[in-house]
Amino acid sequence: MSEELRCIGCGSVLQDQDPKKSGYLPSSALKKALESDDNEVYCQRCFRLRHYNEIMPVEENNDDFLALLNSISQKKALVVNVVDLFDFSNSLISSIKRFIGGNEYILVGNKVDLFPKNSKESKIKDWMRQEANRNGLKPEKIFLVSAAKKKNLEDLMAFLAKKGEKKDIYFVGTTNVGKSTLINAIINMNSDLKDVITTSKFPGTTLDEIKIPLSNRHYLIDTPGILNANQLASHLSGKELEVVEPKKPLKPATYQLLPGQTIFLAGLGRFDYVDGPSAGFTIYVARDLYVHRTKTENADTFYEKHKDDLLLPPRKEDNLGPLKGQTFSPKEKSDILFGGVGFITTPADVVVKAYTPEGIGLGIRRALI
Ligand code: GDP
Repeated sequence: MSEELRCIGCGSVLQDQDPKKSGYLPSSALKKALESDDNEVYCQRCFRLRHYNEIMPVEENNDDFLALLNSISQKKALVVNVVDLFDFSNSLISSIKRFIGGNEYILVGNKVDLFPKNSKESKIKDWMRQEANRNGLKPEKIFLVSAAKKKNLEDLMAFLAKKGEKKDIYFVGTTNVGKSTLINAIINMNSDLKDVITTSKFPGTTLDEIKIPLSNRHYLIDTPGILNANQLASHLSGKELEVVEPKKPLKPATYQLLPGQTIFLAGLGRFDYVDGPSAGFTIYVARDLYVHRTKTENADTFYEKHKDDLLLPPRKEDNLGPLKGQTFSPKEKSDILFGGVGFITTPADVVVKAYTPEGIGLGIRRALI
């Protein structure tokens, strides 16, 4: 019988095949553990949890995770859904509605620092509410914050402090929305909380929660981040994300376009101006992303010729699928959304066709500016 090594944290059999399954350890670490006499080996998840207070993400349909969400609906709790304002539709978890039960539910839109300075917060909130409603979610309140820049956190904190007197507060969200950054910011602002973080296991599962005592008997609970295949961060390499994910407020670049002209946002977006007068279109993407204008009649050839050089990212290995188009005929000034890549503001009464790789998805909203 081959030797079986178990994690001393969670008891799972250690394996180096599937990072998403329990007991995972990278091959090199597993090999080292098997060769040494050291029996005190942690799987990667337990290691991170012990050392960085970090919870490993899970897939949305993970049974343990569904059970965890289900348990929230049985409790008296406040559910705080953290979303990425810059990739809102891909970070909204529609299945969450089944688990909110009769509980209070709020949306926290993070990364508001990326929006252009003159964006109207009321417009951003209106758009979030409409999208949430469309997905069957009825947030009681919407907060816009920047966890990284510690912007607008006071109102949220005051709200949470008040709710925390009466019930537990669960933070949920997909990966990469900034949930850890936000929780850390909250902890840092309440410096007396720093030393009281406890890590507990959700009973009967392999999932962990991080619990932060709030007031008498109530906790702020961080749940695992949910992996979403449509988020760019699930596909692009770290280096590519550096180029695509904006770090600073988006700087608008206005292009005067005639029908028959096309804009490429690297290989992650294509925008054809189909019909209308000569007009200004304003592009909001990360500063380092390659933007190229060409004639629509040459666009397919240009894409085929340059998809592996000028128009990177994505690379073939990123598995985002081919560009897929959708026609929009906005009747008012609108933003055409390209997943987590950015948006293009179009005037009213024009016809445009926008494309993204299948996985990322397109959207439209009333112009924020
Ligand atoms: P989690 O997976 O939801 O826990 O997300 P993280 O806290 O690890 O953050 C994901 C990425 O978003 C990191 O690159 C962060 O630096 C970035 N990030 C987090 N909060 C903000 C924010 O308020 N503004 C901006 N621009 N980036 C943020």
